[in-house]
Amino acid sequence: MSFPALVFVDLETTGATATADRITEIGIVEVDEQGVREWSCLVNPGTPISGFIERLTGISNAMVADAPPFEDVAAEVKERLEGRLFIAHNARFDYGFLKNEFKRAGHDFRATVLCTVKLSRKLFPQHAKHNLDSLIERHDLTVSSRHRALGDARLIHQFWGRLQAEVAPELLAQTVKALTARPSLPANLDAAAIDDLPDGTGVYLFYGENDLPLYVGKSKELKKRVLAHFASDHAAAREMNLAQQVRRIECIETGGEIGALLKEAMLIKQLQPIHNRHLRRNEEVCFWQLVEARPGEWRPQLMLASELDFGQQEHLYGPFKSARDAKKSLTELAKEHGLCHALLGLEKVKPGKPCFAHQLQQCRGACVGKEPVSFHSARLMAALGRQRFAPWPFVGPAWIREGDEVHLIDHWRHLGTARSEADLYELLEATPPAFDRDTYRILVKAQDRMTPLAANPGR
Ligand SMILES: [Zn+2]
Repeated sequence: MSFPALVFVDLETTGATATADRITEIGIVEVDEQGVREWSCLVNPGTPISGFIERLTGISNAMVADAPPFEDVAAEVKERLEGRLFIAHNARFDYGFLKNEFKRAGHDFRATVLCTVKLSRKLFPQHAKHNLDSLIERHDLTVSSRHRALGDARLIHQFWGRLQAEVAPELLAQTVKALTARPSLPANLDAAAIDDLPDGTGVYLFYGENDLPLYVGKSKELKKRVLAHFASDHAAAREMNLAQQVRRIECIETGGEIGALLKEAMLIKQLQPIHNRHLRRNEEVCFWQLVEARPGEWRPQLMLASELDFGQQEHLYGPFKSARDAKKSLTELAKEHGLCHALLGLEKVKPGKPCFAHQLQQCRGACVGKEPVSFHSARLMAALGRQRFAPWPFVGPAWIREGDEVHLIDHWRHLGTARSEADLYELLEATPPAFDRDTYRILVKAQDRMTPLAANPGR
């Protein structure tokens, strides 16, 4: 069985948080064709070591006082680790600390990582505990200096040696392969771009050559969703094509799903990404409004969203994404329900003359007095019923809280998202945005979660 060159790594640190705490000692066991080499080094963390950590590791403030800071050993450590399989116990911890220290020192570090906790768990699922002390006991490992970096790195190396004897070679090779498999990334994308993605809810943006916006999407699990775009088993050519074009990824975290939907809709209109097929720009959002031309005679009138008085939303149907769409929809409705094209304004006919639809026996004849106009009006209202525009249920604006964000909404328009009271007042004073069909659709579904602002004057 051939494995690549290996490094068994262990660190001692000032605490458990990779971004805030620092490394105090590095222990490395290198294994390759030339044999086994051990290396260790104390590091001055530039911050005090607590009494608890001093007692646990035996590394005191006095011991590291004259040790070099990480940046002075960074180049040497990188040389020892680079191009080798990085093996550590609870590897996320050691790898995370090293990545952060390298970053501070101005180095870019990346490795294929194998975690021996995960490895032990996969190979010996019958055991509940997989910490280093359990492995020492189960595999009869020889302890030299426990809780010191090199001492613990040696233990991981020993454990690895035991596995060669205790586990069938194919099973071991297979398990290592599965644990070290990295997501396949498009050739032009830096792996660091993936490592830094957030896990939570929000919006992600793909940019291509020359920072051209390619795609905007939303997810409750950003990192997972982004990686799904790059999964190598994609059957869809369109998805493959998109993945190959991505040069840069940007993520915006939101307080929740509604925030992600609203942001997605806004960004798609703003950026017009070439791979987003839906949610295109609102050219001229329209509604049908029923107007009583004569008593009992209701006729549809095309209204642009910009002309709409949002205080007066009676007898509105839609929204439609364009005047063309509105007419198409009404034409289909007329055909389905035998309505008169002349009365609907879809066809210009002299009074008393039959509309063309009537000649095709598709209109029941309101144009020529065969059907009372009031009957026609009632049937029109019923037919339009499904497209009825939801009236705004509050007197003034309303809000939806999601995480630490508050979405402010008025008459189905998203005034903005506030993270503070000051933001909220600023939004209330700003000019409301134009009515937007996609926003309306998102907000109508979230109606139950809205609280009217007027009922909470103190907010
Ligand atoms: Zn007719």
